[in-house]
Amino acid sequence: MIAPDRDRAVVFAKAETLLTHDDRFDRDPVVPPIYQSSLFTFASFEEMAEAFAGERRRPIYSRGDNPTVQEFEAKIAALEDAKAARAFSSGMGAISATILAFASSGDRIVCVNHVYGDAFRFFEKMLPPLGIAVEYVDGSNTDGVIAALKGAKLLYLETPTSMVFDLQDLARITAAAREYKILSIIDNSWATPLFQQPLRHGVDIVLHSASKYLGGHSDTVAGVIAGSAELIAEVNDRTYPYLGAKLSPFEAWLLVRGLRTLPLRMKHHESQGLVLADRLRRHGDVARVMHPVYSNHPGRATLLGFSGLFSFEVTERINIAAFANSLRVFRMGVSWGGHESLMVPAAATLRQTPGINSMSQFGVSNQTVRIHAGLENVEDLWSDIDIALHSAAG
Ligand SMILES: *Cc1c(COP(=O)(O)O)cnc(C)c1O
Repeated sequence: MIAPDRDRAVVFAKAETLLTHDDRFDRDPVVPPIYQSSLFTFASFEEMAEAFAGERRRPIYSRGDNPTVQEFEAKIAALEDAKAARAFSSGMGAISATILAFASSGDRIVCVNHVYGDAFRFFEKMLPPLGIAVEYVDGSNTDGVIAALKGAKLLYLETPTSMVFDLQDLARITAAAREYKILSIIDNSWATPLFQQPLRHGVDIVLHSASKYLGGHSDTVAGVIAGSAELIAEVNDRTYPYLGAKLSPFEAWLLVRGLRTLPLRMKHHESQGLVLADRLRRHGDVARVMHPVYSNHPGRATLLGFSGLFSFEVTERINIAAFANSLRVFRMGVSWGGHESLMVPAAATLRQTPGINSMSQFGVSNQTVRIHAGLENVEDLWSDIDIALHSAAG
């Protein structure tokens, strides 16, 4: 394996070259226009027939292709070292369209524990009535994952996982999946293409909630998948136009804008998160910090850096509600990846939808707090946490 530091420099250099809008329009704008158009007309019968015959790919209707959306898709494909990408109106739109494109009645999916909560709900609510079974495995136990693979149709990965940030050994797991001819899909939202390049480690399809770091400003909900031209074409053919979760041109434009600062933002989220994680680890009322930087799992090898999202567990002395209510700079809210610092107390989300709750299913403790280190002054962030811990100590 190439040294991660060198890999990281290469990936960042590529991302920096993608900042510019290289298409030439007659007015040469530095920012691409928004093609806010539902349809695109044809100059002649021949041109229309050619487009419908698939002889020339060009926008026909914006539930299929739209030039602003295509600009975003092209940048994601380049960042993930993929041949093609397809954008969606949400991360869940990307997940559901991808799973339903490849799984059908009688199939079994192997999925890692602590997968994103609504992916878990989608698997539990929508797949059993379609005759698709999902088996959950501890993704950090590589032999266990491999043992579950034989006979499965799909492998669904997320490393690090939601809420507890467990890692998976991508190289070994995908080698086994390839041997058994199982299609592998990974949710790479946490790392972004800058901090993990799953396709280079044998994964077939990489997906993102672009609502998080790719957008980066908490103003857009979107998703995207990337992979080989053949696999993306299968999604385009089987589910994408019919489930209809297409991305809007304006949101694609916001995402293209967000991508321009992705390298800058990710370096800063990384350093902010590392400062907070280190201080939390040395705090007397913190029992455990769940940040991949402290892991010695082989899954660390594919991470080229760390984003700003991680969790910690406070001691029993800390009243979680009092802690949450004392924070002033960190705001309480779901999602992450924007400029702002956020926190989620597991104790609140554990109350969500009894029966189909990924956190109670996979076992997340009541004393767990997830934080997103935003771009604010890091000393303000630390004193906010420190004061809140002090005032919540019983
Ligand atoms: C938010 C999130 C999703 C879902 O994305 P949406 O854009 O909200 O539909 C998927 N995976 C992870 C890891 C997420 O955090």
